[in-house]
Amino acid sequence: MKDSLALGIDLGGSKIYAVVTDPDDKVLASAKLPTPADAAPEIIIRTMLETAGNALEKLNLKLDDVSCIGAAFPSPVDPATGDCTFATNLGGRSFSAKAIFRELTGRDVSLGNDGDLGTLAEFRRDGNDSEKSLIGFFIGTGLGGGIILDGKLLEGNSGMAAELGHMIVRKGGRRCGCGHRGCIEAYCSKVAFVKAIQKGIRQRNCQTLLPPDKFTLESTNIKSKYLSKAYRGRDPLVCEVIDKGAVMLGIAAASVCAVVAPERIVLGGGVIDSMGDVILPVFRKSFEKHLFGLSPDKIKISLSSYGDDAVATGAAILARQQKGVR
Ligand SMILES: [Zn+2]
Repeated sequence: MKDSLALGIDLGGSKIYAVVTDPDDKVLASAKLPTPADAAPEIIIRTMLETAGNALEKLNLKLDDVSCIGAAFPSPVDPATGDCTFATNLGGRSFSAKAIFRELTGRDVSLGNDGDLGTLAEFRRDGNDSEKSLIGFFIGTGLGGGIILDGKLLEGNSGMAAELGHMIVRKGGRRCGCGHRGCIEAYCSKVAFVKAIQKGIRQRNCQTLLPPDKFTLESTNIKSKYLSKAYRGRDPLVCEVIDKGAVMLGIAAASVCAVVAPERIVLGGGVIDSMGDVILPVFRKSFEKHLFGLSPDKIKISLSSYGDDAVATGAAILARQQKGVR
């Protein structure tokens, strides 16, 4: 039994998730810890291993008991070197996660980008046998993405493909964490929402229903559930900002469809978990308005059913694929 277990770890902008999965990709145990986002890469990876240890402990297991380990990073990951580059939500640093993991565990860890691995997990779970292409958008602290083409993850040159959050949707638009202007991530991500709400309060003196002990003008850290509550309470500023994000994401998704023409689009991530049902109609209307060629009913749009475990489960799937473990 132990031989068939895989470990997946997801480094998010605010939380680290770890899962232990069986050969059917079922999550047997999970754990989470806050991300020490400002710490050195080695400290961050130590915390990833600590989170993994907590998940394993629930099954009375140790790291040596799993047959393969996969990890997801919020940055492009070079499949050849394991280098994480341009981790914009971790201070834009570049480092070799593969080398650090090897030093700390003595093992080779399979590495991938978080949006890619979330998309891989969704493809494996909900894709029927005839489905060959899928685009995933994961709205969390940032905006991750992934593309499956002909049943395989699109890696591209140096693992840089499917950085969907950095598609530029407005020339000279909002400043993105990557340094460019007008990226879709600067309109549709938790950090983008909070910054736009803060700007509305500062410049237009808007009021908000967001609780003052959870939302301040100084921090971009807020749980999705508070944004969701304010949106559902029809907070005008919160609705304006999030609806704009959903409209912009619809434009971005339609643009990717003009390139990929997928069979399905999946929306996931923390923001979608807490308010996907209310964002979806706004997204869909904008998507259909901007879609070229294909009839909208040819492209299925689904919300992730995984919740917090999607990316970590995708990391475990990648590890199985790379190690040839079933
Ligand atoms: Zn960007």
